[in-house]
Amino acid sequence: MRVLVIGSANLDLVYEVERLPAPGETVLAAGSASYAGGKGNNQAVAAVRAGADTRFIAALGRDDAGDRLAAEARAAGITLLDRRVDASTGTAAILVDRRGENSIVVDSGANARLTDLSAAEREAVAAADVLVLQLETPLDTVAEAVRVARAAGTRVVLNAAPAAPVPPPVLRGADVLIVNEHEAAALAGPGADPMTALTAHGCAVVITLGAGGALVGSPGEDPVPVLSYTVDAVDTTGAGDTFVGAFAAALSGDGVEALVAATGFATAAAAISVQRKGAVPSIPTLEEVREFRDAR
Ligand code: AMP
Repeated sequence: MRVLVIGSANLDLVYEVERLPAPGETVLAAGSASYAGGKGNNQAVAAVRAGADTRFIAALGRDDAGDRLAAEARAAGITLLDRRVDASTGTAAILVDRRGENSIVVDSGANARLTDLSAAEREAVAAADVLVLQLETPLDTVAEAVRVARAAGTRVVLNAAPAAPVPPPVLRGADVLIVNEHEAAALAGPGADPMTALTAHGCAVVITLGAGGALVGSPGEDPVPVLSYTVDAVDTTGAGDTFVGAFAAALSGDGVEALVAATGFATAAAAISVQRKGAVPSIPTLEEVREFRDAR
């Protein structure tokens, strides 16, 4: 499976604090660490660990953070097609308190410069089996990538996260839309049944339900529930990204059965990830997903 991810890459700076600071207040952290992050980066790692031949188009700054993100992506086995732009690499400052509450500031930085696909980038879209997109990079580029993919027969998996309006032509151009409950409700609008409203755009829809698993819908068909695995969740950071990348790597064949099969694989990968801390470090390999499923 050849998966191409176009999306965000950030350096996450995580501070462990007793409590979140009030305006004007300084608090001391019990510790801090930095990790590769961003939905695009996490989903690319999830796809490559799930066994897909994975390419990743990302915009990075010409700085230490960009060098680090590029090195880590390549070390993970991803073929990185990076653009180096005159902006700082995207960063996120994440404060996590004793109870697990967090406050996050994101500077999109270079991610906002992921505009106007080059000829080589369009070729990469056309050469992929599955294109994976999210909404942390400019929407115009998402729309452009969807058009190129459709013309080339590349399948489009759109993870409409974080929650934001998506123009109907982009939804129509997606083969599979993956959203959590909150994003589904936001996209569907008030009063509508999210699954009915979203499949009306003509795309298949997977709504993830946390510990409740996922619901798989296709236009004109009854939604199929896919149950989650009962596990002791310690950190759900990155569970959604693990789900999306694993889903893309496992998506082969047509029809509802193929969607349900990919969702089953993604559900197992995500269930493993929530039992481990962090985003990227928690993403399982194909071998781990197989062992986990065999043991259940
Ligand atoms: P969410 O973004 O919270 O809907 O989670 C995405 C996916 O991660 C879900 O569809 C589940 O497959 C998995 N997941 C999230 N939380 C849990 C949990 N507590 N136990 C098992 N799987 C989970």
